[in-house]
Amino acid sequence: MSDLYLKFVNTPVGKSAAQTLGLPSPVTLNRWKRADQPFIEGDVLVGAALGSKAIASLGAILGASPANLFHASGTDSLADSSKAGNKATALDLSGDISQRFSALVFDASGMKDTTELRALYDFFHPTIRKLAGNARVLIIGQDPANCKSAAQAASQRALEGFTRSIGKEIGKKGSTANLLWLAPGTEKQLESSVRFFLSPRSAYVSGQFARISKSTHNAPATNPVAPLTGKVALVTGASRGIGESIADILARDGATVIGLDIPQAMEDLQKVTDRIKGKALGCDITSADAPKQIAAFVKEHFGGIDLVIHNAGITRDKTLGNMPEHFWDMAIAVNLTAEELIDEELMEQELLRDNGRIVCVSSISGIAGNFGQTNYACAKSGVIGYVEAMAKQLKNGITINAVAPGFIETQMTAAMPLTIREAGRRMNSLSQGGQPVDVAEAIAWYCNPSSVGVNGNVVRVCGQSLIGK
Ligand code: NAD
Repeated sequence: MSDLYLKFVNTPVGKSAAQTLGLPSPVTLNRWKRADQPFIEGDVLVGAALGSKAIASLGAILGASPANLFHASGTDSLADSSKAGNKATALDLSGDISQRFSALVFDASGMKDTTELRALYDFFHPTIRKLAGNARVLIIGQDPANCKSAAQAASQRALEGFTRSIGKEIGKKGSTANLLWLAPGTEKQLESSVRFFLSPRSAYVSGQFARISKSTHNAPATNPVAPLTGKVALVTGASRGIGESIADILARDGATVIGLDIPQAMEDLQKVTDRIKGKALGCDITSADAPKQIAAFVKEHFGGIDLVIHNAGITRDKTLGNMPEHFWDMAIAVNLTAEELIDEELMEQELLRDNGRIVCVSSISGIAGNFGQTNYACAKSGVIGYVEAMAKQLKNGITINAVAPGFIETQMTAAMPLTIREAGRRMNSLSQGGQPVDVAEAIAWYCNPSSVGVNGNVVRVCGQSLIGK
């Protein structure tokens, strides 16, 4: 689907027209292009609050990238970290800064009370205007739920408001700001998340936080170019839109994909699975025998499954008083109940392998509610409840997470009335709709075998939409 306004404002005539009329001027977002491209390039500046423990891991992750690494004066532990040792150069933030940064990374995990929040100002005030376009801000904190004192919890929670506000200030240049909250002892489980949030893979994710919790499962070493090698994935609703892109991206990352869609969509589905050398399964996920049919297919062809992506979804919009009952029933069945029943069957038959991943596709409608979508929002909210509850129950390194897309350019949103569609596109910090690939990249991050501690999260892929919290 095409956003003609975005194309127009990125021409010289369009840019000056938008400026004159005071209209939004979204920039074209950098997205991931080549499987072997570095996750970040350019100059990266890293800072830390006193006593922060993630800094050494950050040094190792960034030190192994081709980016030029700088650390804020006083952040000695970065220079001390083994791999980055001779690469990071100290930068005095009180002097003139000549660099343009592709990322600013701040480890605030050591903050113990609110007076220490001043470190955020000291680090970001002199540097925020030195960000290049399409840049990244990443803040690392401690999950407030695990803080020992109210003062510490307050300082850590404060990072959320700070991150979300930075996202709103830098979004007009196509840049993003996100926050990672660590549980104690997870400092070494950061790699897949840092790589995601600093790379073009997170182009449409801003103003979000993700929790990394303690996992008993060790993060296995993965091939960064094809981390899903040897994995088998099921993607529902894979014949088009977001599902098609999820199938493409998981296959790009090395997985063998079973694409599933309704029998009427088999022709399109077959094209997708042929392209990625996967397998096609025609099945209506709401039919009574769907869970058993899927389990039998998995068992017959692969003997088990590693990644289950519940993407199939429908809208059946009407205000509640005007809504026919089958609209209600279908929206709940496709968007919510089918997911539970499929997972239940796969687990009962012990087909979901250790270190497996379940990913559900929710929606910002499920967070904020939406006019005419009581049925859809109810189901997508239910998805979040399901993910949060299941995250506590799953064992053997299996995780479950959700993405909540905002406005994504697909046939679903192309069917919206023009004014609602245009409002949906612009009402976010990046002033544009996302692409299906943006949702798919977030799912690939959850699926990475190293994302063992990323469990029970609901990350919005919405360009920091103004709608919802
Ligand atoms: P889409 O309509 O383009 O694709 C949905 C796919 O699901 C279709 O291929 C469809 O045939 C399949 N499907 C529907 N019912 C099915 C069933 N009973 N059994 C099997 N397959 C079925 O939609 P999309 O925009 O690509 O959306 C994908 C997911 O993302 C959905 O869950 C949707 O609710 C969610 N989402 C989309 C947006 C957006 O802006 N496009 C925003 C938020 C959430």
